[in-house]
Amino acid sequence: MLSTMMDFPLTIQHIFRHGRRIYGNSEIVTWTGAEPRRASFAAVADRAERLAAALQRLGVRPGDRVGTLQWNDQEHVEAYLAVPGMGAVLHTLNLRLFSDQLAYVVNHGEDKVVIVDDSLIPVLARVRDRLTTVERIIVAGSGDASALDDGDGDGGDRVLRYEELIAAETPGFAWPELDERAAAAMCYTTGTTGDPKGVVYSHRSIFLHTFGVGQGAAIPLTQHDRILAIVPMFHALSWGLPYLGWSCGADFVMPGPYLQAEPLARMIAAERVTYAAAVPAIWNDLLRYAEKNETDLSSLRMVMGGGAAVPRALIERFHEKTGVWITQGWGMTETSPVAALAWPPRGARDGEQPDWCAKAGRVFAGVEMRLVDDTDGAGTELPWDGKAIGEIEVRGPWVTGSYYKNPAPERFHDGWLRTGDVGCIDPLGFIQITDRAKDVIKSGGEWISSVELENHLMGHPDVAEATVIGVPDATWDERPLACVVLKEGAERDAEALRRFLCDKVAGWWLPERWTFIPEIPRTSVGKFDKKVLRARYAGGELEVVELEGAKR
Ligand code: ADP
Repeated sequence: MLSTMMDFPLTIQHIFRHGRRIYGNSEIVTWTGAEPRRASFAAVADRAERLAAALQRLGVRPGDRVGTLQWNDQEHVEAYLAVPGMGAVLHTLNLRLFSDQLAYVVNHGEDKVVIVDDSLIPVLARVRDRLTTVERIIVAGSGDASALDDGDGDGGDRVLRYEELIAAETPGFAWPELDERAAAAMCYTTGTTGDPKGVVYSHRSIFLHTFGVGQGAAIPLTQHDRILAIVPMFHALSWGLPYLGWSCGADFVMPGPYLQAEPLARMIAAERVTYAAAVPAIWNDLLRYAEKNETDLSSLRMVMGGGAAVPRALIERFHEKTGVWITQGWGMTETSPVAALAWPPRGARDGEQPDWCAKAGRVFAGVEMRLVDDTDGAGTELPWDGKAIGEIEVRGPWVTGSYYKNPAPERFHDGWLRTGDVGCIDPLGFIQITDRAKDVIKSGGEWISSVELENHLMGHPDVAEATVIGVPDATWDERPLACVVLKEGAERDAEALRRFLCDKVAGWWLPERWTFIPEIPRTSVGKFDKKVLRARYAGGELEVVELEGAKR
């Protein structure tokens, strides 16, 4: 029997209408370095309608891709609303990509128009002559755009000004009727595991993800919150925060390019931010800043870290300083991106908080997860006993089923996405990630968790940051190499660090190779870039200390 419920289309248009009508006086604050810019949701909605009208006038049709090379700012939110709302596809461009990769994703995504913040003109100018599909470039801000002229002698008429286009239109755009399964947005993975692959989100997947992450078990925001969206809008839809905040009327504080600890601390204090989300490297920077400088972080009530393992020592020190526990989240571009949050379970006792927050997360309703051992090709499902180690697989309405123009069947398994993350799941559903499959260290046929070693090392008072990579070893195939950034003034004492680990991990896990480096290379979204370190090691660029008498 079929139900008689309405087949209401699950589109971003609904989210747009709702935020505008119900929360018209919520606001978006954009940090500028001088006086912050402020706009109400109502004003932003009007501007989004004008933007849609302008794009249509420029020939953008349903299904066309509109690239955005923008910081987290008001205009980027306008594009998040206007572009999918008019039936076109928002293609967020990672502004930290190398030129080759940026040109690759714009061309592969076949962007017809690119909206660029004026501060990012130099980034786009570097690839200007290699863009094969871009007809128009729209510059937000009034900075000099001559670097974008295409040099064909016609005065660079493919470059237009955002504010002029908006001013020429009126609000009241006639939004077309959309199929909820139509593409709404796309984002390429950062390519830490090979060529960037495009993930295409549908209206339906974004709609359901928005409602999914708004659950109490995920990111419980309300109209009383003020969100500091540090996670970039150019990567994985900024964890869905733009649509979540818009649909529940939370204010936004948008940092623009001001992502250093000092301005972030000022934003939190001045704007009374209640919620913020960022990769652990940012929290580490902010904490170190707050430990040395007078800061007021008292408005924070909820803080999230994810995208990479959040070290337990960071969680504890952050709590000591602010009284707030960093709740860890897990997800990936392919999962829209949020799939799990590490809220402590019912019955958790006082003092256990860091044990739970240090886990990657607990899957919330809307995503299904399983643990699989596919080493023999049989794809055996493993128990959730907190011990069995396998690859995490996920499925659900906001998990991608393929990649853009690249079906990549090896990444899927009977309708499940292979995440490439290796770990275990405990009986309560908490994930513990041991490694990404490509970072796994296999020593004498047994796995050593680089994530766990890193976690412990970062708990040492002399260590600012640490990461562990697998390097070739004649006897054991692979052994861990600990790469350590010391705090200022600390002594290079590999033996002492090794002793510190002795009672924390199995003897055969203890690294015998150590290197002290000034900083850990990061990927374009701020994660430790182990690929670069492995290449530096292979190229003999790292000065390695080998400890005597190490137990292998
Ligand atoms: P990329 O794959 O380019 O790094 P993503 O943002 O899609 O970009 O990365 C997703 C990956 O980030 C996950 O597969 C996982 O390896 C890692 N990750 C995300 N959250 C966590 C977490 N809480 N702990 C450990 N790893 C995480």
